[in-house]
Amino acid sequence: MRWFAAGEFCMPLAPLNPDKARLSLEAGSVLGHSAKTKAQALAASRAASKRERFRRQSGGRRLVPHERVATCLRWLRPGERAVEILHSASEGEAHYSRLEVCGSVWLCAVCAARIAEERRKELRQGVEFCAKNGGGVLHLTFTVRHNIGDNLKALTAAFTKAYSRMVGHSTYRTLLRGTYGIMGAVRALEVTNGQHGWHPHHHALVFTSRPLTDDETRRFERELLELWAKCAAREGMTMNQAGLSVQGARAAAGYVAKWGAEEELTKSHLKSGRGGSRSPWDLLRDYCDGDTQAGALWREYADVFKGRRQLVWSAGLRALLGLEDEIPDDEAAAALPDDAKHLGWVDFGDWLLVLRWELRADLLNLAAAGDWSLVVGFLADLRARYRADRRARGLDCPEPVEPPGLPEQLPLAWAVGAFSAERYG
Ligand SMILES: [Zn+2]
Repeated sequence: MRWFAAGEFCMPLAPLNPDKARLSLEAGSVLGHSAKTKAQALAASRAASKRERFRRQSGGRRLVPHERVATCLRWLRPGERAVEILHSASEGEAHYSRLEVCGSVWLCAVCAARIAEERRKELRQGVEFCAKNGGGVLHLTFTVRHNIGDNLKALTAAFTKAYSRMVGHSTYRTLLRGTYGIMGAVRALEVTNGQHGWHPHHHALVFTSRPLTDDETRRFERELLELWAKCAAREGMTMNQAGLSVQGARAAAGYVAKWGAEEELTKSHLKSGRGGSRSPWDLLRDYCDGDTQAGALWREYADVFKGRRQLVWSAGLRALLGLEDEIPDDEAAAALPDDAKHLGWVDFGDWLLVLRWELRADLLNLAAAGDWSLVVGFLADLRARYRADRRARGLDCPEPVEPPGLPEQLPLAWAVGAFSAERYG
């Protein structure tokens, strides 16, 4: 049974201003005061990033309501009756548990951030392993010419096909591998949208059995560009010298750091694509700010990219770098820190109010302090606002039902009653 879906539609409640609730929340929280210390500034920045990710996830939900992102961190998992909040002291962060997690690296701003962080840790481990064992790493960027009228689906298909053609080519497999000691590559598919339309591109980390000299790196770049241009031409695409750029280890280390938690936490909602181009997350942000055209572009992107693999490792490379098998995206998205401990339960009725006013990030930010009494006060405030709203509209104002206790003790009758018309209608 999908509880939230049922609850959502039987709650014709006039939306309160979420900012108002937020202000009240912040006034009572550690984040509301002007940040006087570095730690407070960091906490405030992390809180703002989290709020922005949840906001964009909600924007995605409105654009693709039939995809799993629409239920992510909203619906209870089958068999669950309340939302559990976990707290990690080492991270200073709170997490939701017992909720559905979509694990979509393309469509869900919340899952994408978590997956990127898991992948970043692994990649760093691989780069460090390679460096420790005398190997080298190169950062490659592959692009093609693109125009405003290009169809994203056709362009992406041609682009990925050209790339597969290149890595399967005998020149790549024999000459380049033999000459430069290439052990393998991990590549990430990305796309931006700018004045010349859609721009799919690949970033790749190429691992070599020894560090290449600057001369070798330039020669490798020339030879590979020639091959890349040839393979792209077979798919009807052209490029100039910018079709491939190869950077040595220092830049590659910077690229790995690009997926770092600090970057993600502090800049994801602020960063815009270079030269006026926008990433899918920029499009989603603009859609949330009222740009319906950005929403249409994002929907087109979602349709083409959903279900694709973002990060692809060449066969056998992970073992060479001492890494275990890759965990799937949905497991990476649901991964919790080792020290995550139970902090408290949010009963289903309260959860509906949190969802109604889009306060999921605010609740987590408040719980990040590890003090459950702050959350209890916040939820009490929401219930009071709910009652005040009903009174203002001249509606009955039933007293809230008693807190149900732990989910194990929660009778099904209560769960059904909790979102019945009597309480929320
Ligand atoms: Zn998700």
